[in-house]
Amino acid sequence: MHARRVETDLLILGAGGAGLFAALHAHAANAHLSITVAVKGLLGKCGCTRMVQGGYNVALAPGDSVERHFMDTIVGGAWLPDQDLAWTLVNGAIERIHELENELGCFFDRNPDGSIHQKAFAGQTFDRTVHKGDLTGIEIMNRLAEQVWARGIARMEEHRALALVPCADGSALAGAVLLDIRTGEYVYVAAKAVLLATGGGPTMYRYHTPSGDKSCDGLAMALAAGLPLRDLEMVQFHPTGLLAGAHTRMTGTVLEEGLRGAGGYLLDGAGERFMQRYDPRLERATRDIVSRAIYAEMRAGRTSPHGGVWLSMAHLGPDNVRRQFKGMVERCGDCGFDLAGARVEVVPTAHYMMGGVEFRADCTTVLRGLFVAGEDSGGVHGANRLGGNGVANSTVFGGIAGDAIAAWIAHEGALRDPDSDVIAAAIATAESPFRKGVPIDVEGVRERLHTSMWDEAGIVRDAASLRRAAATLEGLAGELATGSMASAARERAYNLTWHDWLNLQNLVEVSRAIVRAAQAREDSCGAHYRADFPQSADPVAAAYTRIVRRGDALHCERIPVRFTRVRPGQSLLAA
Ligand SMILES: Cc1cc2nc3c(=O)[nH]c(=O)nc-3n(C[C@H](O)[C@H](O)[C@H](O)COP(=O)(O)OP(=O)(O)OC[C@H]3O[C@@H](n4cnc5c(N)ncnc54)[C@H](O)[C@@H]3O)c2cc1C
Repeated sequence: MHARRVETDLLILGAGGAGLFAALHAHAANAHLSITVAVKGLLGKCGCTRMVQGGYNVALAPGDSVERHFMDTIVGGAWLPDQDLAWTLVNGAIERIHELENELGCFFDRNPDGSIHQKAFAGQTFDRTVHKGDLTGIEIMNRLAEQVWARGIARMEEHRALALVPCADGSALAGAVLLDIRTGEYVYVAAKAVLLATGGGPTMYRYHTPSGDKSCDGLAMALAAGLPLRDLEMVQFHPTGLLAGAHTRMTGTVLEEGLRGAGGYLLDGAGERFMQRYDPRLERATRDIVSRAIYAEMRAGRTSPHGGVWLSMAHLGPDNVRRQFKGMVERCGDCGFDLAGARVEVVPTAHYMMGGVEFRADCTTVLRGLFVAGEDSGGVHGANRLGGNGVANSTVFGGIAGDAIAAWIAHEGALRDPDSDVIAAAIATAESPFRKGVPIDVEGVRERLHTSMWDEAGIVRDAASLRRAAATLEGLAGELATGSMASAARERAYNLTWHDWLNLQNLVEVSRAIVRAAQAREDSCGAHYRADFPQSADPVAAAYTRIVRRGDALHCERIPVRFTRVRPGQSLLAA
C-alpha cells in the first residue's frame, strides 16, 4: 500500500507540553525552519498536559532552592534518577515558569502580596507547586496552543505516528510513517530531525488516569526501532483515583494530590485513618507508599462499599474546600459525590510512566536525528515521580529539545533516503486487522489486558504473578497478530475499532517490557514492589533496568547509577 510523502525540517510527534514547547523554541531559534507538529488528537485539546491539575514544581520562594528541589527529586526517586537530568529539570523549571508567565501569558494564582502562590504536594520538603486553581494544565495548554497557532507552524491533526524510519544505512533517522485518522491514508514524513513527545501513558491498567489518546505509542515505536528504554518497571500509581462505578470512564480519574497536601484524610471502610500504620508522613507520604497502603487495605478487605477507601475533606471546612479545590469539587459533583462536605471513594490508579527512552540532557538519543522529551523519556524521575515534576519535565525538556534540534539541523540536518522496508513493514502491521481471519473481540482483549496488568504486574508483583502476566501478554500479542476485525468494522475513515486495535498492539508490547523489567529487578524500590523481595534496594548499589528489543526478544540488563552530584547518605543542602 502506498504512503503519501510530506517533507519538513522538524517533525514533532505529539502536542503536549513537550511537543509544543519544542515547536516554539525551535521556531524562536530559526524562524525559517519548517516545523510540523503531528498529533493523534486536536492540537491543544489532547494529551495529559491539558489534564494537569495540581501544578508545577519550581524553587521560587525565599527559603527554597534548586538544591532542595533536586534533593527531594533524588530522594523521592529512590536514588535512581540520572542526576544530571534531575539537575537540568530543577534549574530549567525556574526559567520555564517565567517564560510561561511573561512570554506566553499564563496566569498563575497569587498571594495577597503579589508573589506567586505555591502549594504543598506530597513527598516534598517545601511548598513549591505553582498552580492555576486545581486545573493548571488548561491554562498552560491554551496559552501554548495560541502561540503555536500564531506562528504558522504546520499541523497534522488526527494523525497517528506508526513507526520511526531510519535511513537506508541505519546511521540516522530519516522520518516517520503516520496514519491519517480522518481518511485512513498513510503518510511518510521525511524530516531532518524528529522529536518523540507522545507522552507515555500507562493505560494498560484497569484503573488509569491518562487521556484516551495515550497508548504508549512512542515507547512502542522506540522499542521497535531498537532504542534502549530504562526504568520501565517504574509505573506510578496515583493514590486517589475516583471510584465512580464500573459503568463510567470517570472511574480512575485522578483527584489531585493537593487534597492530601492540604490535610485531607484517607479512611478505611470503618471510617478510621490508616496511614499511621504505613508511614510517619501519613497522607503526605510519596505516591508509591500511599498507593501501596491503600492496596493493602483493599486486600485486607477494609474497604468502602465499592472496594476502595474514603478520601475525606469535610474536616477542613466545606467552604474552604470548595474555594481551594473548585475543579475537584465540581468533578466529583458531576459524578454525584460531595467532596467538600462528605466523603468520596477512591482507589489507586495508574498515572505515569517514570520509564522511557534513554536520553541525554540535550534531549539527544543514541539514534542521530531522533530527540525525545517529556513522558516518553526516562531517567529524570527514577523510581518515583514527585507530583508537580511531570509538567515541569515536559516543558523544561521540550524547550531544550527545540533549542538543541534547531542547532543540530543547522550543522547535521539533511533529508535522508528512508529504509523502505521499514515503511512497508509498518504499513503491513497496521493493515493486519483487515486481513481475512478469525474475528477477535477488541474490547475483550482490552479487558484481559487491564485485568492481567492490574492483578499481576501492578502495585504489588512477585515472580509467579509476573510469569502469569507474561503468558497472558504472549497470548494477547498472538491474537492481535493473527486475528482480524469483524467485517462490520472495515471502513478506514475514523475507524475507531481499528485505532483501538493499534493502541492495543502498542500497549501489549510495552506491557511486555514492563513485565520483563519487573522480573529483572529482584528488589523493591520506589514504585516497584516485589512481594517476594520486599526489602528495599540499597541506594549505594542503585542500578536501573535497560530494555532493548533485538529481533523478537526483549533483552534486559541492570546498569549502575552514576552519582554525579551527590552520593547516598550525602546532601547538597547545608547541614
Ligand atoms: C489527570 C492527570 C493529572 C496530572 N496532574 C499533574 C500535575 O498536577 N502536575 C504534574 O507535574 N504532572 C501532572 N500530570 C502528569 C503530566 O500531565 C505529564 O507529566 C505531562 O503533561 C506529559 O507531557 P507530554 O508532553 O510528555 O505528554 P502529553 O501532554 O500527554 O502529550 C502527548 C501528545 O502526544 C500525542 N500522541 C500520542 N500518541 C501519538 C501518536 N501515535 N502519534 C501522534 N501523536 C501522539 C497526544 O495526542 C498528545 O498530544 C498529570 C497527568 C494526568 C493524566
